Amino acid sequence: MRKTTVFVLVVLFQIALHLNAQSLVDYVNPLVGSDSRFDFSNGNTYPAIAMPWGMNFWTPQTGKMGDGWQYQYSKNKIRGFKQTHQPSPWINDYGCFSLFATTDTVVFDENKRESWFSHKAEIAKPYYYKNYLANYNTTVEIAPTERAACFRFTFPATNKACIIVDAFDKNSYIKVIPEERKIIGYNTFNTGGVPDNFKNYFVIYYDKDFTDLTLSIDSILFQNKNEAKGKHVGAILQFKTRNKEIINLKVASSFISLEQAELNLKREIGGSSFDEICQKGKAEWNTLMSRIKVEGGSLQENRTFYTALYRTMLFPRKFYEIDANNKIVHYSPYNGKICDGYMFTDNGFWDTFRAVFPFFTLMFPELNSHIMEGLVNTYKESGWLPEWASPGHKNCMVGSNSAAIIADSYLKGIRGYDINTLYEAILKNTENEGPIASVGRLGADYYNTLGFVPLDIHGYENTSRSIEYSYADFTIYRLATELKRPASEIDTFKKRAFYYKNVFDTTINFMRGKTKNGEFQTPFRPDAWGHSFSEGCSWHWTWCVFHDIDGLINLMGGKRDFVQKLDSVFTTAPTVEYSAYGFLIHEMVEMQVMDMGQYAHGNQPVQHMPYLYNYAGEPWKTQFNVRNIMNRLYTDQPDGLCGDEDNGQTSAWYVFSALGFYPVCPGSNQYVIGSPLFKKATLNFENGKTLVINSANNSVKNVYIKNIVFNKKRYTKNYFDHFDLLKGGVINVDMSNTPEMNRGVLKQDFPFSLSE
Ligand code: CA
Repeated sequence: MRKTTVFVLVVLFQIALHLNAQSLVDYVNPLVGSDSRFDFSNGNTYPAIAMPWGMNFWTPQTGKMGDGWQYQYSKNKIRGFKQTHQPSPWINDYGCFSLFATTDTVVFDENKRESWFSHKAEIAKPYYYKNYLANYNTTVEIAPTERAACFRFTFPATNKACIIVDAFDKNSYIKVIPEERKIIGYNTFNTGGVPDNFKNYFVIYYDKDFTDLTLSIDSILFQNKNEAKGKHVGAILQFKTRNKEIINLKVASSFISLEQAELNLKREIGGSSFDEICQKGKAEWNTLMSRIKVEGGSLQENRTFYTALYRTMLFPRKFYEIDANNKIVHYSPYNGKICDGYMFTDNGFWDTFRAVFPFFTLMFPELNSHIMEGLVNTYKESGWLPEWASPGHKNCMVGSNSAAIIADSYLKGIRGYDINTLYEAILKNTENEGPIASVGRLGADYYNTLGFVPLDIHGYENTSRSIEYSYADFTIYRLATELKRPASEIDTFKKRAFYYKNVFDTTINFMRGKTKNGEFQTPFRPDAWGHSFSEGCSWHWTWCVFHDIDGLINLMGGKRDFVQKLDSVFTTAPTVEYSAYGFLIHEMVEMQVMDMGQYAHGNQPVQHMPYLYNYAGEPWKTQFNVRNIMNRLYTDQPDGLCGDEDNGQTSAWYVFSALGFYPVCPGSNQYVIGSPLFKKATLNFENGKTLVINSANNSVKNVYIKNIVFNKKRYTKNYFDHFDLLKGGVINVDMSNTPEMNRGVLKQDFPFSLSE
């Protein structure tokens, strides 16, 4: 009877999946980007089986414990189903543990237990994952919630159906409590950036009595224990099963305590079944994804779009929990205490300030407000704003990009947090080096006095720092104006917003390293990566003056020279000078193979560059290039991204670009127009308004904009204003297969530049 019920439920569930194939979340392919390696990445992502911005993600694990490439599409063997918090393979994971199953053998060692599998027997959805472990004739299914998950193991008939809980190394603890059918434990796995008391507590309930229990303590198996603490511990629960017998597990965790983990489990799963959690997860994804509905594209374009939207809806993760009094609390990854309020983490602002956060300001402003409160808490708990958090401050990348994120949010009217504290934190950054190079501003003194970070003082990435600080100062200038700060303060930041000019060499029209005596770096090659530049070369960094493209045009000698230089990015041979690294780094190879010259879409600094033609009166070149990039560099396949996807940034580029506009300059309240991909896109804003973008005669060939009508008025500008979009209405875009050389050519229609 029970077997029949289960069978019917499984069939019903599979039918439901099939019938709802048009549900938006079912366009998502979480495997996109997973066909990546250390030396060549097509996204460097793993399938995150997770809820939007969930505290925990789950991923099938093909890589060894501690390997940043935890799931690689090319692998054929699987060794675990892992709770992961990894934002990037380069940063690696923390607070992770895994579940796995074997039959007829009691084995803990991750290399000995791994099983063959095939993608043909794998189903990956954001809200549901299924795989078949061929070595053990066992099926494993996962349905996640924000802080918990249901697991369903379907075993063959055997006396040894084993469920493995691997608490991972770097110190862990596990205890099995048979009378409650419960396993508790914690792990401390991390790669730095956490206080000493960091722990991820987990609780697991199983629904059948086991026959035997084995614990693994530092690679030795014990059968007479039910509790273990060590460098690396785990448990193997052995069951006697009938054919196709299901064992259900409910798993939850907490960064606060075991009690909180229990509470998270009760609140998010409680008495719900696997299928109920699965359907709930699907409904939640669909509700949030339906804020953007695209129509008229191919199936592949729909899949690519919603996969990109999914990637944009994962990071930063909710690092907060809800306590017994329904209060929002968090374990502080900065001071190790339990503190009130929101906390988010796992984000490199260097990547995400560009498009991810602007996307939240447009489509998820309430979330954005919570994230801002999290930044206030980060500053209170650590004394600094985060630039690369995972979960605490990590030393990675350059810049002062938190300023852009905060200013952009506030200028776009997002409220509900203490902006004055955030402003204080921003000011502190502008005057101080931090405890690690990525927080505060390395070289702040030199920058503030000389107007740039000198090459002979900070040899590495000095020019990138100068350029990024200058842009950050623009956003501070705008925020200071809005906050009605003293005029002298506003003037200081406005003045510094032009400091990018100090590292521009007008004799060669490139950004270039400079010594404190004012001598430009010699020898110089614009294709030299590293040195004065961060993960790129001058071909990429020369364009990072988001706030003053008009100023850059003037430095280059006018619009003609500027456009010629933009053109040459795509046509110059993709040579690289890599002596700063000593070898070809993966970002270089990923640029070279695209056949797009020096344009390197696989890394973030240059991603806005195709939009810059709009500032020089040749918008059709933007339209051609962004469509070309969308069509060539993004697919719905496992190799369908390029470079490091990086916490949603490269995906947010696609989401915006497919809608037809992109936030070149966060802090300006403008979106620069590209070329909409879909015949119709509907944006349902949180304020209740709806914006429809129609481009009925859009096609693979009709990529050029002939004319735009916005709410029945002819619209001649090369940009949209944030607040105009939020009012809703209809934008009709008339497309053509030939460039419209009379549209968007007048200066009054160009996007914002500070110099004007
Ligand atoms: Ca990157």
